[in-house]
Amino acid sequence: MRLLVVEDDIPIQEFLKKSLSEAGYLVDAAGDAKTGEALALEGVHDAFIIDLGLPDSDGLDLIARCRAQGSTAPVLILSARRSVDERVRGLEQGGDDYLTKPFALAELLARLRNVLRRVAPPQYESTQLKSADLNLDLLRREARRGEEVLQLTPQEFSLLEYLCRNAGRVVTRTMILDHVWRMRIDPATNVVDVHIYRLRSKVDREGLRPLIHTIRGVGYVLKPV
Ligand code: CA
Repeated sequence: MRLLVVEDDIPIQEFLKKSLSEAGYLVDAAGDAKTGEALALEGVHDAFIIDLGLPDSDGLDLIARCRAQGSTAPVLILSARRSVDERVRGLEQGGDDYLTKPFALAELLARLRNVLRRVAPPQYESTQLKSADLNLDLLRREARRGEEVLQLTPQEFSLLEYLCRNAGRVVTRTMILDHVWRMRIDPATNVVDVHIYRLRSKVDREGLRPLIHTIRGVGYVLKPV
């Protein structure tokens, strides 16, 4: 696996190069957006780790330029910008995950493995999704918690499938609208919240360990906690 790190803070860049190399990755690094873009467009990297505060451009613009030129490698944003708005913007503008500085190396590595796993599915597409005692049979469009079959509408099943495919990762309302409804709906609409509410009443029944969690101001995440 080969990574591209775009980070102008040299001590952090050095730390990332060293620790990611030790973790078994090949690492290229750039200290500004222009160099980063040139390297990114070589198309040889499995993932990018991009800082937002770069000397010559905003990291989000760099991501947008790479995407516009056909780069599909997943992006882990690493930034000192901690506000919910900034994180949502990062995720909506092409970032696959967002980690704020200061960060723990173990978390960076875990998130990196996650974004890499998502883009490198096994050769065959599995027809089963599983998270804790939740099982989705994608062929039969059937969801179970433990032994119990959940009575879901097709829309609810699609929503649950999307959450399950992104298990452990926060998805925003806009991402859900894009992927589940597959159309541009005014993000101010509460259609997602309404469906999540109904879905949750079926998936996370009283007495069961809750799987669907609300991240206030950001979106939702499916994870067993
Ligand atoms: Ca910076």
